[in-house]
Amino acid sequence: MLEYAGSAATPPEYPRWDLPEIAIVGRSNAGKSSLLNTLGGRHDLARVSKTPGRTQRVHFFAERRLGLAVADLPGYGFARASKAEREQFAAAAERYLLERELLRGLVLLLDVRRTPEEDERVIVDLAQSRRLGLVRVATKVDKLGRTERVRRLRELDRAGLGPWLPFSASTREGREAIVEAITELISAS
Ligand code: GDP
Repeated sequence: MLEYAGSAATPPEYPRWDLPEIAIVGRSNAGKSSLLNTLGGRHDLARVSKTPGRTQRVHFFAERRLGLAVADLPGYGFARASKAEREQFAAAAERYLLERELLRGLVLLLDVRRTPEEDERVIVDLAQSRRLGLVRVATKVDKLGRTERVRRLRELDRAGLGPWLPFSASTREGREAIVEAITELISAS
């Protein structure tokens, strides 16, 4: 069960705890809130991250049973954001990704119907340079038929960023595999 633990724009405002953290990253609309709700076992959990100011802040959730915390980063890929919002994203998310010492791993979300682009490569490179664990999640797989789904997942795996776990917030398919991957990442770090 995830518990909301506050939102922060700058490091001094981050929670002062000793829980290892996992950050959820992905473009706007990739399905971050839906994944958080599915992982957290509540429908309203990520509503907070849809409120005004979302783009400027990192939202923190504690998962006490698993002994970890989750940071929901503002979405990148800025189709709907103004220039000022893009700059604020850069400030809030980049500072978190570069400076947070408790950060152990990233969960990178990509809509299964999209192709990884520069935004995704930046995240994969960052995971490597900071030696963070990385779980790649292809979201919304329920939107594809059987054949198309197999084809898209194969293409994603060939894109050179590593293997992707299929996930659907609608059917909850993939939830257990993601929890397992996150738990393994934390125990290995
Ligand atoms: P965020 O901007 O990354 O937090 O993305 P959201 O979780 O808000 O999802 C964006 C849109 O995609 C919403 O309309 C969701 O209902 C929809 N969505 C998210 N995950 C899924 C999924 O697994 N299946 C389907 N069919 N729709 C999804």
